Amino acid sequence: MALYDKTAHELHELLTTKKISAAELTADIFSHIDEAENKIRAYLTITRDKAEATAKLVDEKISRGEKIFPLEGIPCAIKDNICTKGIKTTCASKILENFVPPYDATAYKKILAQNSIIVGKANLDEFAMGSSTENSGFYTTHNPHDLERVPGGSSGGSTAAVAGGEAIFALGSDTGGSIRQPASFCGVVGFKPTYGRVSRYGLVAFASSLDQIGPITRDVTDCALVLNAICGQDDMDSTSTAAQIPDFTKSLVADVKGLKIGLPKEYFVKGIDPEIETAVRNVAKKFEELGAEIVEISLPHTEYAIATYYLIAPAEAATNLERYDGVSYGARVDGADVVEMMTNTRTEKFGAEVKRRIMIGNYALSAGYYDAYYLKALKVRTLIQKDFTDAFEKLDLILTPTTPNVAFKIGEMVSDPLKMYLQDICTVPVNLAGLPGISVPCGVTKNNLPIGFQLIGKALDEATILKAAFTYESTL
Ligand code: GLN
Repeated sequence: MALYDKTAHELHELLTTKKISAAELTADIFSHIDEAENKIRAYLTITRDKAEATAKLVDEKISRGEKIFPLEGIPCAIKDNICTKGIKTTCASKILENFVPPYDATAYKKILAQNSIIVGKANLDEFAMGSSTENSGFYTTHNPHDLERVPGGSSGGSTAAVAGGEAIFALGSDTGGSIRQPASFCGVVGFKPTYGRVSRYGLVAFASSLDQIGPITRDVTDCALVLNAICGQDDMDSTSTAAQIPDFTKSLVADVKGLKIGLPKEYFVKGIDPEIETAVRNVAKKFEELGAEIVEISLPHTEYAIATYYLIAPAEAATNLERYDGVSYGARVDGADVVEMMTNTRTEKFGAEVKRRIMIGNYALSAGYYDAYYLKALKVRTLIQKDFTDAFEKLDLILTPTTPNVAFKIGEMVSDPLKMYLQDICTVPVNLAGLPGISVPCGVTKNNLPIGFQLIGKALDEATILKAAFTYESTL
């Protein structure tokens, strides 16, 4: 197996036993990128010089006999809405086309502290709004399993990089499913931690009450390693939690005996691809055989999740995106006076989906509509949260499909935003409730397209999710 196809923990072993050097690994990844990137287009910026410099540093450390971190010398991709000092951070938007942040996002800083090798900044839907990377202001990323199909989104570049051998792991962000949905489309593992587990400092804000950074990896073990690296309270993010962080590698034991896992009936309704339904029900059977107890449950407010999300997320986005005014950040298009300058800048530089969200958001927040839309959405959000709280009184985990369908063809849904929004039907409730959720691969369809299942846990209980995911993965 080529080096670029291995997991971080396998490569760590090869590095520490000096079977390979970080320089060799880096050269291997880049020679694969030279071949694959013009087909996959996972990256917006490639940082080869920086990667080679880090590899040199790591090799020197190893030759001095020093101990290295679990992710040291491991090539990774960073979603391009995570601020990287001195490296362009565009959010795949023309409005930030030449923006170079003066500071690092905390999660990225923690990856740098491990001396991981930064391969580049990965493509996304503009400002993370979308489910396919087709909303990128620059180009669409292709699914490595079938180049005619989307990789999912919005962390499509990060995910395609990991699935296509262009990075060993990646950081993504998930506001309504943007780590888990592309992970399921590309056949890799994607984890959205509990809201507050990972600092949002330096993550360009989309919907601040929903956004979380998380890992995209090739297996559950790597997922635990990246979580260990990036979780933790941060003075720069007042919503980050002081809760104790377990060593997530302690969860890598194959044992689900006695775990109670709920299957919510609302997630297995008409419209879901029958091949996905069968695959996820087989996962439930597998858990049962291994000693878990499977219970049918109901999360009655699920049907309102999409509508709720598509009011709250655009409302927060409309507010967050006010800062792109041609003055403080990024691009400026001139005009006769300041109002015209701002209008021209925003009209020319924002893409259609971003404008749609700003309009929906401002409408929902405006006088006269605030109570009817935004406030109503907040109330329904509480009901959705309560569904989970009630269910978790008797459960350890909830098992669902990650997506209602597998990766679709590029162009297939662009003309129908509502259909695109339905992509998030299984993932948005988890963000609305602030809970942790993972997507794990569970086979392929007869057309060879990856399928993923989702495990949702109690707040701050990433450990149980990892344990069950690891158990399932161990049976493969
Ligand atoms: N697809 C969802 C949206 O378009 C989720 C995006 C995300 O999680 N960043 O809003």
